[in-house]
Amino acid sequence: MLRINQIKLPLDHTPEDLTKALVAKLAIKAAELIEYRVFRQAVDARKKRAIHLVYSVDAVLENEARFQQARNSSDIMASPDLGYRDVVPGPEKLSAPPIVVGSGPAGLFAALLLARRGYRPIVLERGKPVSERRRDVERFWSGGELSIDSNLHFGEGGAGAFSDGKLTTLIHNHRCRKVLEELVAAGAPADILYVSKPHLGSDRLPAMVKNIRQTIITLGGEVRFNCLVSGLKLKDQKMIGVEIAGQDFLQSPAVILAPGNSARDTFAMLWETGVKLQAKPFSLGVRIEHPQQWLNEAQYGSAAGHPRLGAADYKLAFHAPGGRSAYTFCMCPGGQVVAAATEPDRLVTNGMSLYARAGANANSALLVGISPADFSNDHPLAGIEFQKIWERKAFDLGGKNHFAPVQSAGDFLADRSSKTLGSIEPSYRPGWRLTRLRDCLPDYIAGTLCQALPFFEKRLPGFARADAVLTGVETRSSSPVRILRNADMESSVRGLYPAGEGAGYAGGIMSSAVDGLHAAEALIRKYALP
Ligand SMILES: Cc1cc2nc3c(=O)[nH]c(=O)nc-3n(C[C@H](O)[C@H](O)[C@H](O)COP(=O)(O)OP(=O)(O)OC[C@H]3O[C@@H](n4cnc5c(N)ncnc54)[C@H](O)[C@@H]3O)c2cc1C
Repeated sequence: MLRINQIKLPLDHTPEDLTKALVAKLAIKAAELIEYRVFRQAVDARKKRAIHLVYSVDAVLENEARFQQARNSSDIMASPDLGYRDVVPGPEKLSAPPIVVGSGPAGLFAALLLARRGYRPIVLERGKPVSERRRDVERFWSGGELSIDSNLHFGEGGAGAFSDGKLTTLIHNHRCRKVLEELVAAGAPADILYVSKPHLGSDRLPAMVKNIRQTIITLGGEVRFNCLVSGLKLKDQKMIGVEIAGQDFLQSPAVILAPGNSARDTFAMLWETGVKLQAKPFSLGVRIEHPQQWLNEAQYGSAAGHPRLGAADYKLAFHAPGGRSAYTFCMCPGGQVVAAATEPDRLVTNGMSLYARAGANANSALLVGISPADFSNDHPLAGIEFQKIWERKAFDLGGKNHFAPVQSAGDFLADRSSKTLGSIEPSYRPGWRLTRLRDCLPDYIAGTLCQALPFFEKRLPGFARADAVLTGVETRSSSPVRILRNADMESSVRGLYPAGEGAGYAGGIMSSAVDGLHAAEALIRKYALP
């Protein structure tokens, strides 16, 4: 099979046009093309008057050998093997089923692989099943109480369950394909296998999460909710089992720990147990909102609204002379800014979109990178203390009722408290309060954002428009902690496999799921089938 890249077609092309373009690119007769499938479809919008779709396809041809010479060009090559590489079980006997802590992307995909391989994992999740969790999240967004174990970060599906469900990643790993295929098997649209920027949407994700849970159970695994892992039982620095909610005990020598980046109590417990941890860099900033219609026109010109383009996005970065960097992150086209707190007296923002991405506003995190050198001390958990300070300030600034502090970009740049907003309605619920966002941001972060906004304006005119809405404060872009692990994926405690974003080895749904698979493979390599 050959991979043929860079087949460019106009937006309104038909399937037959793609076949013809492929035949023309290969300079073969139509009859020589046996079959093909699209491997990747991307939008090339660099020239707004001539926006194209660019395809890579995998094709089976008669007499492929005659392309032997061309095979080394970047446009025609042998199709790489994308098959998932199974691992061989190891020799050690498992005295009890493996435990997976957390049912976010890392935990779910780890458990799914273990279940598929016959290891009958037991998943322990502190929160509720995704449908019940959705009700708790809705109640909080409608002004009700925050549930500390059932919120935007905690509960079945993890932090990714109510998100845009973007599956884009910077990692290149053979497991990515496996993740996409498992998601399609769980009900995701099949186009995620080939579009260059796949996404799932908050409205569709819960059904996929439930289907993955059902597959784990059908294969002999278990998923237990309302099971906070509150302690680890060790002997000679080896896992014996876990304590649940301070009272029950579940035995196992093998535990995959995928708690996500917000499990502050779990990180504290690990530290007290003696598991080796390290502070790590992360980012902090605000969400910015613009009209999606403006963005569609800015990115696609007169082609804006074309059904093959969908809602436009952007990605921007700025490197300040002093060494700080600002960047946009987790851009949610046609989405909403969401209340993502996990504690009753702290405020956190994030963003999500429904599958259709049809909301009026585009939003994105606008972040500045920080490192352990910015923390007040060199304790491994100092980054969490740092987050807490700014989340508390944001909570206070919003009025201590989970209303978010909001300011227009124009007022932020001019450093005056906002008294009114322009035409862009903030989408954050349960509500917002006009204020001065510098009061809940470190000076160097506010300063870097003030330098970055005019720079982004040059890259994407209108980005720093005076009426763009800023909402604070975004602190959970990635984990402030790393749980150290060795080449066999084990922590300083044998049999404890840290995985995913909270462990500090991933950032985003895809890379967390991939890391979960990786951790499960390491466990399989060590232990024989039960
Ligand atoms: C609103 C929002 C939108 C996002 N949008 C995107 C996006 O579009 N694309 C993208 O790539 N990424 C997105 N992210 C980030 C993405 O969700 C995370 O990177 C990803 O979910 C991390 O996966 P994880 O499995 O490592 O951890 P998590 O998803 O955080 O899952 C951890 C799980 O562990 C459970 N848990 C924690 N501690 C314990 C304990 N002690 N005992 C038992 N259970 C425990 C939690 O309840 C949770 O279910 C978004 C995040 C948020 C909050």
